Amino acid sequence: MPAYVLPPLGSNPSSHAQGTNPGSFAKAPDLGGPQSFSSPDSVGMPAPSDKTAWDFLPTDWRRDSTTGFASAPPGFEPVTQLEHARLGRITPEMRRVAEREGHLSPEQVRSEVAAGRLVIPANKAHLAHGLDPMGIGRALLTKVNANMGASPISSGTDEEVEKLHWAERWRADTVMDLSTGGDLDMTREAIIANASVPVGTVPIYSMIIGRRIEDLDDHMILGGIEHQAKQGVDYMTVHAGVLFEHLPFVRRRLIGIVSRGGSLLAKWMIHHGKQNPMYTLWDDICQIMRRFDVTFSIGDGLRPGGLADATDAAQLAELETLGELTERAWRHGVQVMVEGPGHVPFDQIEYNMKLQRRLCHGAPFYVLGPLVTDIFPGYDHITSAIGATAAAYHGAAMLCYVTPKEHLGLPKKDDVKQGCIAYKIAAHAADVALGIPGARDRDDELTKARAALNWEKHFELSFDPDTARAYHDEDLDVDTDFCAMCGHDWCSVRISKEITQFLSGKDAGYAWDAPKLSAALTPAQRAILEQRGVLAPADIHRLATKTRERVGATPGHKADCHSDVAGDDEARRLQGE
Ligand code: SF4
Repeated sequence: MPAYVLPPLGSNPSSHAQGTNPGSFAKAPDLGGPQSFSSPDSVGMPAPSDKTAWDFLPTDWRRDSTTGFASAPPGFEPVTQLEHARLGRITPEMRRVAEREGHLSPEQVRSEVAAGRLVIPANKAHLAHGLDPMGIGRALLTKVNANMGASPISSGTDEEVEKLHWAERWRADTVMDLSTGGDLDMTREAIIANASVPVGTVPIYSMIIGRRIEDLDDHMILGGIEHQAKQGVDYMTVHAGVLFEHLPFVRRRLIGIVSRGGSLLAKWMIHHGKQNPMYTLWDDICQIMRRFDVTFSIGDGLRPGGLADATDAAQLAELETLGELTERAWRHGVQVMVEGPGHVPFDQIEYNMKLQRRLCHGAPFYVLGPLVTDIFPGYDHITSAIGATAAAYHGAAMLCYVTPKEHLGLPKKDDVKQGCIAYKIAAHAADVALGIPGARDRDDELTKARAALNWEKHFELSFDPDTARAYHDEDLDVDTDFCAMCGHDWCSVRISKEITQFLSGKDAGYAWDAPKLSAALTPAQRAILEQRGVLAPADIHRLATKTRERVGATPGHKADCHSDVAGDDEARRLQGE
């Protein structure tokens, strides 16, 4: 009998059940229920809400207890994905989401949309521009958003469109145009026209260009939102949850309000002595959103800006209001996701995720980070990816990336890449841990290639093959049965291959044959090594111009791929000299 007991298993994360790992320790999937894919609850965590979007139908709708579908008043024409789902209709967008995810049927996607636990941000105008529909919800793989947008100090439309292409290249699932400078309208239009992923915005930014926040009025708010909806924006952040009565809570904070939208609206409220206009106009805003099927991303204007302010009275009071706004938007037939923090100590992340699940009845949670420490500016893509992994495991459905430039300046193209990769790691790690079917397949394939020391396959299966190949060749430009990390005689994988009882690299499809000079570096791989600045330009040139013709040794010299203890004569024999 072993001296340990494994926790109860959820489901195996690999659809092929490969390897010896027993599977995910997360809860068994609850598809169609409030937990979807979920971590087990630590002590004291809030239970999921017993309500869904079904409890917040428009007042003149009815739900048929036999079919489970809703019926609308005569003459009603559904527009949003939520309305179609409630009526039992599977849209082409729902079919596409099911096709992309693989583990859900179109009917399951419809059912999750109807429950409000899954959104498909797909503005009709953007669909006409080539949007490829995707879904966000805890029943699906975790999604990643990349922010971009010009500031008054830096960048312009062309640079932002280039960043968009770069974000798509690094597999961002959505992008947000957060421009506050340059020609906002032109940049937004260009991003929508070029984006195959959903585009989100924070419309208050464009409303105050050329005017003081104090001058913002109802007409400008509704006009600004309608204009962007017509342009094709798929989801909008509206900071309607920051209420006048929440503002006293902010006084005790170390860093006040760090959300741009939240701070602007707080200033408006204090100046006018009135309630947040986004809140008072909520029903009118919902009607505009419905007409174009724009999804709400209800903003967290009071998110904490430092660990000291996390999970405080201001943040939680706003979260309760976000729950109320979710219910009201659902009554209008509008799709909703909810935004979350920010800066949160690691131990408080699970509570934050599960409290949102309860207060917002399972509406997808879209979180920024969170950063789990404040003292690493320049590395906040890492501090926040650690928090994002925990957030996704405990319930967040989409992660907003943070780049190395966070808190310091406007991200450049390479920062977009670093942010995307950090967050794809976070999202994927959570998906594997949650036991989403098939999430681990590619990891297992790469493990097989790594075990066989099949470098070509190893890199092919990597998320960033160019960097993996360039780093490998920087030290050893021969694909052989070890790498420069340990060398021949210390390579445990090679030694394991020789131990026939358990034989590493046993999959015939990945078999390794003989050492061969790796292919010449591509321009992209060469640029990676140049940027690292470790090798002299001449060395990089040699790697970039070599051919596959030879195994790598100059006659009379031992090739790099020989054992440290192999004699010169033995080496020459193996080299065929
Ligand atoms: S040399 Fe070391 S790092 Fe490289 S493949 Fe072998 S065990 Fe892995």
